[in-house]
Amino acid sequence: MGGIVYWGLLRTAVVIVLLWFSYDYFDYNFFWIIFSLVVYLIIIHPIVSEYKKFIKKNKNVITNSLCSQCKHFNETAVLCMKYDEHPTDDFTPCDGIDWEVK
Ligand code: SF4
Repeated sequence: MGGIVYWGLLRTAVVIVLLWFSYDYFDYNFFWIIFSLVVYLIIIHPIVSEYKKFIKKNKNVITNSLCSQCKHFNETAVLCMKYDEHPTDDFTPCDGIDWEVK
C-alpha cells in the first residue's frame, strides 16, 4: 500500500512540473483537456489498477485468515500492528500466539 501512495505522489509531482512548463505551448481550452487526460492516465488510472491488484493479491488474508479476526490487524494496509509486518497466506508473524479477538 505504501508503494501505491509513494508512486502516486511521485507521478503527481512529475505531472505538475511537466504541465507547469508546458502551459505556454497549448491553447487555454486544449490545456484543460490535456490536463484532464494526463491526470487520469498517469495518476488516477495506475493508482486504481494497483489498488485492485493489491486487494486481489491479499483478499484471502483480509477476509479468511487468523489475522483477519485479530484486533492487531489493520485491513487497509494488510499489516499486523503489533509486529509491524505483513501477514501472507503462508506467514503469520506471531504464529498465532498473540492473536486477540476483535
Ligand atoms: S498479533 Fe498475530 S494474529 Fe494478530 S494480526 Fe499480528 S500476526 Fe496476526
